[in-house]
Amino acid sequence: MTYQIAIDGPAGAGKSTIAKKLARTLGWIYVDTGAMYRAVALFCIRGGIDIRDEEAIVNALPGIDIDIIYNDEGQQVILNGENVNGFIRTEEVSAITSAVSAYGPVRAKVDEISRSIAARNSVVMDGRDIGTTVLPDATTKIFLTASVEERANRRYKEYIEKGIEADLEEIKADIEKRDENDRNREISPLRQADDAVLVDSSFMSIDEVVEEILEIHRGSFL
Ligand code: C5P
Repeated sequence: MTYQIAIDGPAGAGKSTIAKKLARTLGWIYVDTGAMYRAVALFCIRGGIDIRDEEAIVNALPGIDIDIIYNDEGQQVILNGENVNGFIRTEEVSAITSAVSAYGPVRAKVDEISRSIAARNSVVMDGRDIGTTVLPDATTKIFLTASVEERANRRYKEYIEKGIEADLEEIKADIEKRDENDRNREISPLRQADDAVLVDSSFMSIDEVVEEILEIHRGSFL
């Protein structure tokens, strides 16, 4: 028997931090679906593929092999044999990923990989459409959100801690733009599933959110 906790929500709500902790606590696998969309975006940047050219991206897809492996540092995305984890979190990649992820064939590819991992393992999977599309029968569905100010502040602090120069207003604008793209796209838009539980992390610590989701998860068996 395998179980799934699906966590969806807007950019910067803390999904990956929370999902990683939950997976560790439960002894399950964490699946970061955004990382796979980021790998496709990275492929486009490196190959000089115009992200507005859907046909070019769709034509390139058969040559984009994405594999997910796990090591001590967690999920690693392997793009055509190369571990690209160190290259997919840049501003440049973030900025174009939501455009690339709006194309149906790109989504189908990532969905297939995500579902095949969930078919073999108990997973905590995060993204935008996990509860609505990827794993509609997930054991537990969470929609994790926080105010845009709080999400921008968190991202800003992360950058500063890493010694990366950052501009709070720019980060806020980027988050708002990504949310708008993700919410308004035609295929699998960011949306709370009807049976998902809303968790607003604006005024909660990471541990409080993890505990609340564990409670909700235990409740799904009652
Ligand atoms: O979660 P992360 O910020 O890494 O995701 C990057 C982008 O990938 C999102 O802004 C969104 O456009 C896209 N994405 C998606 N569906 C998912 C996960 C991510 O469309 N399930």
